[in-house]
Amino acid sequence: MNLANNIEKVRAKLDQALTTAGRAQEELTLLAVTKHVDVATIKELIPLGIEHIGENRLQEAARKQAALDGLKNKFKWHFVGSLQTNKARQVAADFDLIHSLDRMSLAAALNKAALQLDKELSVLIQVNISGERTKHGIAPGEVGAFYEVLRELPGLCPVGLMTMAPYTSDPETTRPVFRELRKLLEQIRQDYQPGPQWHELSMGMSNDFAVAIEEGATIVRIGSAIFGA
Ligand SMILES: *Cc1c(COP(=O)(O)O)cnc(C)c1O
Repeated sequence: MNLANNIEKVRAKLDQALTTAGRAQEELTLLAVTKHVDVATIKELIPLGIEHIGENRLQEAARKQAALDGLKNKFKWHFVGSLQTNKARQVAADFDLIHSLDRMSLAAALNKAALQLDKELSVLIQVNISGERTKHGIAPGEVGAFYEVLRELPGLCPVGLMTMAPYTSDPETTRPVFRELRKLLEQIRQDYQPGPQWHELSMGMSNDFAVAIEEGATIVRIGSAIFGA
C-alpha cells in the first residue's frame, strides 16, 4: 500500500469531479474512513494533509484515540457507524460530527449527553433513500417531520443529511439517490429556513464519489480507495 500515492490519486479524481460540476475545492471535505486501519497508519495521514477521519465502531475508535494521545486533536473525528442509544454519551464526548442519526430515541440521548457536556453536537440525519431493508436511516418522506423535532433540541446542531447508496458496479445508476438527498436538503431549507450551517451532504464512497460530487456532495467518505480493500 502506498498511502501518499493513493491519496494523490483520490485528490486528482475529486478535483476532476469538482471541475466537471463547476464547484470550488473549499466546498468539499475528504473524510478518510479509517475503520480497518491501525494507529501507525493514521499517524501517517497527518503529513499527507488528511484532517478528517471517520470510524464506525465506538470501542475501536476510543482505543485509537487513546493511542494517538496528543495527536488526536490533529483530526476532526466523524462517527459513521450505527449507534446504540446507550453509547450516546461517549460518542458525544469524543466526536465532532455524527453522520448516523437515524431515530428519535438516539436524538434524545445525544441531546441529553451534549447538554451534560456543555457542548453543541453537530449531527447529520441519515436517510434511507433506496429503501433497502438492510440499510439504516429515516425514510425520505419522514425527514421533514424528524428535522422539525430535532431543531428544537438545544444540545444538537443539525447540519445536513447523509446516505449510504446501494453498492453497484456502475456508479451512474446511483446518481438518482444522490440527487434525491440533495433535493431533501433543499426542501428542508425551504420549509424550515435553518441557518447557513444547514448545508452538508455526506454521500459518496470509494466506488461512487465522483458522481456524488457532481450531485452536490460536501463530504465524501473514502476507505478502500485510500487504504486498499
Ligand atoms: C466503510 C465506510 C465507508 C467507506 O467505504 P469504501 O467503499 O471503502 O470507501 C463510507 N461510509 C461508511 C458509513 C462506511 O462504513
